[in-house]
Amino acid sequence: MTQIACIELYHVRIPLDKPFYPSWIPGYPLRENRFDLVRVITRSGIEGFSAGPAIARERQGLGHLIAPYLIGHDAADIDLMLQRLREVSYLGVRAGWMEPAFWDIKGKFENKPVYELLGGRAGPVEVYASTGEIRNETSRVYEAEQRLGEGFKTIKIRVHDFDVETDIRHVRAVKDAVGDRMAIGVDANQGWRVTIINDAPLWDLSRARYFADACADMGIAWLEEPLPMDDYKSLAELTRYSRVPVAGGEIQTNGRAELKYMVEQKCYDIFQPDAVMTGGIAHALEVAEHCRAHGLKFTPHTWTNGIGFAVNLNVLLASGFNGVKPLEYPVNPPSWTVEKRDAILKKPFMHQRGVITPSPDPGLGFEIDGARLRKYGTRFFSMNKRKLMFYTIKEKGLFTALKINSNRKKYGVKSS
Ligand SMILES: [Mg+2]
Repeated sequence: MTQIACIELYHVRIPLDKPFYPSWIPGYPLRENRFDLVRVITRSGIEGFSAGPAIARERQGLGHLIAPYLIGHDAADIDLMLQRLREVSYLGVRAGWMEPAFWDIKGKFENKPVYELLGGRAGPVEVYASTGEIRNETSRVYEAEQRLGEGFKTIKIRVHDFDVETDIRHVRAVKDAVGDRMAIGVDANQGWRVTIINDAPLWDLSRARYFADACADMGIAWLEEPLPMDDYKSLAELTRYSRVPVAGGEIQTNGRAELKYMVEQKCYDIFQPDAVMTGGIAHALEVAEHCRAHGLKFTPHTWTNGIGFAVNLNVLLASGFNGVKPLEYPVNPPSWTVEKRDAILKKPFMHQRGVITPSPDPGLGFEIDGARLRKYGTRFFSMNKRKLMFYTIKEKGLFTALKINSNRKKYGVKSS
């Protein structure tokens, strides 16, 4: 029933109304919400989806690398799927972002939301307004007032100036404006510094300490990614020192093993692995469990696109950490709006006064709008059993193709 019959990959480009300048890539205008979408279809017609953010066509070869080894396998066998994704990663392509699609299928097959399948319960989820751009003080204050008016109780702002005093001045301007009406998180985006267009500030421990002190004095709720993500020693030292909770871990490239080590080292007070970027839902939940065992907090990062938001919403609900810290809700009008973020979903994840009500629908809780996918997406890969057969013959020759097929059957892999 959940045997994989077909795999498709789409490149999706949703034009934004205005260019979006993410603080994490100084000087780089994003004119589109751009990502790759995987659609896995089972023999019985169940469809599972996931998405990974894209800069260009970096996943062009991924289909042929992985699909031949997934077709005919059971999509609901998550351990096997994770093994396949791991094998792909040996060759340098990180494919953990595809794992949620298998959970989507498993949930739909068992007629349960993924969070419920994983032992979580539905319940209101408080979200915080996560801004993405560096703005001047006046614009930042205006933005905070807007979000406050919409019902958000917490906002996250970005700092990325070469001068630490400018960063502090910006945070103070927002704090002075909203006072105790709104909690403020500050993201320094030092975890994975990018300098492809403009140079970017590079923090060291002494700057991070100085800034953390200023944040503590202003009553800031948390400080995010104040140092390079692999400077474990300095992170642990800062976290011990800081009076403000230190958060991070969204894109740890070595996944759960690295994150669990960082939990043990207490590199952060709050761990924020993004399931789409650190190896999938199962691994993120292992990290959550490790956080609990070590007395630390957990709330996943969500800033990729609407599908990534849905994936991490399920992670939070399944983690048992819902209600401890608000969940990130990316919103940065006029460029990064909910409508553009979630443009290929039938129902965008709208908040009500800063609260999301999780969908009781089976799977990951969203439906893809087929017309929107056709409009914004280009299918760049599609493989089913028939195409796989021709592909294998072309690549390996008829004799070897038959041998491979018989070996797969012998080792228990049913062909669909
Ligand atoms: Mg962040």
